[in-house]
Amino acid sequence: MNIPILTYHKVDTKFEFGITRVTPSQFEKHIKFLQSEGFKSLTVSEARNLKTAEGKFICITFDDGYKNVIDFAFPILKKFNFKATVFVISNFVGKLNTWDFSFGIRFKHLSWEELKILLDNGWEIGSHSANHLCLTFLDDEKIKYELEISKSEIEKNLGIKVRSFAPPFSRYNEKIVKFATDLGYEGIYALSNGMKFDGVYHRFAVYSIDTISSLRRKINASNFEKFKLNLINLFSEFTMRINFAKNKIKK
Ligand SMILES: [Zn+2]
Repeated sequence: MNIPILTYHKVDTKFEFGITRVTPSQFEKHIKFLQSEGFKSLTVSEARNLKTAEGKFICITFDDGYKNVIDFAFPILKKFNFKATVFVISNFVGKLNTWDFSFGIRFKHLSWEELKILLDNGWEIGSHSANHLCLTFLDDEKIKYELEISKSEIEKNLGIKVRSFAPPFSRYNEKIVKFATDLGYEGIYALSNGMKFDGVYHRFAVYSIDTISSLRRKINASNFEKFKLNLINLFSEFTMRINFAKNKIKK
C-alpha cells in the first residue's frame, strides 16, 4: 500500500526568509482538508508495518524538530485527531537552530520533555542525524557517527527505539542507506527525487507557497499509479507545448 507522506518544517507565526515555514492558519487548512478527504494519520513506522490494504492513510512528518511543532502544529493536529512523526537533530534538541543559515532569525528546537509529550500522544520520533550535515560530503566514519550517535542519543533520552531516519537535505546514496540499515534503521525518509533504493520512502515537502490544489497533487503523486499518470501527463503536456511553440516559431 502506497501511503502519501507529507513533510513540513516550521509551523509558526514568526517570519522567516524562505518557504519552509507555513503559518498555523495555512496548516490548519491543510489538516482540515485532509480530514475532509477521509484521511487517517499514521506514524511512518505504523505505515511501514501496515498489513491491511483498506482505508485511506497519510503520514505527516516534520523535519528538524522545531519547538513551533508543539506550539502550533500539535494543537491543530490533536483537534483533528491526527498524529505525526518528527525527525530531530539530536545535538540540537532544546537549542537554537545555529546549524542553519537563516539571516540571523533563529528558531528553537523541541526539548526532550516536549518530545516526550508528543510521544505520549502517539507520535513517532525519528532521527534527522546528529548535526544536520550533508552526509554525502562526509567520510565513512563521520557518516556512521551521524547515524549512530543520533539514534543512541534519542533512544537514551526518550527511552524508545528509533526506527526511522531522514537524511539532512534529503541527500543520500547507496552507501548511506546500507550504513543506516546496518545500524538498525528500518525506514529512510527522503524528499522525492526519483532515486529508488530498498527501505527508502519518498515524501513530498509542503511549503508556504502551496495551496489546497497543490497539496492534493502532492498526495496523489505519492500514489504510484497516479504518479505515473501525472508524470505522463506532464511529459505529454510538455512535448505538446514544445511542439506548439515550435510550430508558432515556424509560422
Ligand atoms: Zn532538515
